[in-house]
Parts: sequence; structure tokens; C-alpha cells
Amino acid sequence: MSSRFRFFPTFRLFSLSFCAITVVANGAERLDGYPQAAEIPEGEVRLFKLADGVWSHIATHDYNGVLYPSNGLIVKEGNELLLIDTAWGAENTRALLHEIKVQIGLPVTRAISTHFHDDRVEGVEVLKLAGVKTYATLLTRQLAKAEGNEIPQNTLPALSASGDSLQFGPVELFYPGHGHAPDNLAVYVPEAKVLFGGCAVHELARQNAGNTSHADLAEWPVSVTRILQQYPKAELVIPGHGLPGGQDLLTHTIEIVKAQKTL
Ligand SMILES: [Zn+2]
Repeated sequence: MSSRFRFFPTFRLFSLSFCAITVVANGAERLDGYPQAAEIPEGEVRLFKLADGVWSHIATHDYNGVLYPSNGLIVKEGNELLLIDTAWGAENTRALLHEIKVQIGLPVTRAISTHFHDDRVEGVEVLKLAGVKTYATLLTRQLAKAEGNEIPQNTLPALSASGDSLQFGPVELFYPGHGHAPDNLAVYVPEAKVLFGGCAVHELARQNAGNTSHADLAEWPVSVTRILQQYPKAELVIPGHGLPGGQDLLTHTIEIVKAQKTL
């Protein structure tokens, strides 16, 4: 195991009672002007600075005739950059690398895909060609292979049991358990109190669970509750798609998934 990994298995016992959860004030005022889908032609990428050394990247993709926005993260580590998720396709990911070069000017050396769907792994081959080391959990790599999707080349150690976390450079990776997908990871940047929830977390505007083709509607609220318990100090929460906000995105996701399960 590389010395750049530090593995902290977490064995947390907690009540699932919501009254035990403290929802801190959100940092929504830092999000004025966040790029929306209508402003981003497919094939272009916007970067949005969330905090010192932390940006989100936003691209769009036409899916069944609807233009969806998609978020990923960029985190500075010394004079290098860590990328969280591709920009949903090869063309978008090429545009992402170009925007990073122009706007930030530091090399992307490592990238993590937070689950096996297109919006997280398609573009991995572009990253590999650019010399970026691509990472995912063993489960994500296996599911991507089975789906015929692009496969990140390196396996992240552990993160196989619900509640496992892994320090990876400037971020903590967290496996909350099944949700939007069996392998969905959350990513926390402790220095900036930024939590990237990925596709396990929905924006406030979304009133349904979205693409549930690989979702576990029964476990999903439990998994998001684990994220809430793990990162009570998170001030900014970035969903996989759409507008960021505060911890209310987590409670909102729990509510809409529970509502969908009982339909
Ligand atoms: Zn997604």
C-alpha cells in the first residue's frame, strides 16, 4: 500500500433517530452565480470556486432529450490537483482538462470516480492518456466492467463496508452503503468543510429519486444518514447534479427517497 494512503476503518454506532442530528447553517451565500445547465452548452465545462483550493466542475449531457448538469470536484494538494469524477463523457472531460489548464494552471495527477455510472467514469480514458492516475473502489471497477463502461485503472483499498472511510491526499473518502448505486462514495474536504455527496445526494429542486436503475430505496436513507453523522461540520454540500447548498440537501434526499419508496 502506498504511503499516500492512510486507512481508518470507522466503527461507529449511532442512533438513526433524526433528533440526534444537528444541521448546521449552510454556506449557500458562497454559491451565488453557480452555473446552471441552460448556461452550459454540451461539450463545455465551467469551474466554480467553492473555497481556497476547492472548485466544482460543471458540465452538461443530453440524456433522453433533456440537458442535465453534472458536478464533480477539483481539490488542490500542494502544486497538484486531485479530480473527483469525470465530466460525463470524453469530449466534456477533454474540455474539463483544458479549463483546468487555463484557469488553475496546475497538473491533475490523480482522479477518483465515485461510482460506476457514465457521469463518473466516461472520460477515464481521456484522463489516462493525459497521464492522470485514475482510481475507484474494487466494487466500482467491477461494476463498470460489467456495464461495459470505462474502468479506472487503480483500486482504492478497502471502502467495502458501510461506514468505511479512507484518507486520500487532501480529502476523506466515505462509503455510506447502498444508495443511488451500490458503490456510491461521498468525498469530504475537511479544510474547506465541503462535502461532495455525488449522486447519492440530490439538489433541493429535485422531487424524486431520479435514476433508480441501480438504487436501493430501502438502504439509501440509512446511507445518507451515515453521511450526516460522519460530517456534521460540513457547510457546503455538492450534489451529483444541480445546485449545491447546505446539509439540508441530505435531509431533503432522505425525505424524497422515503416518499418514493412508499409510492
Ligand atoms: Zn449521476
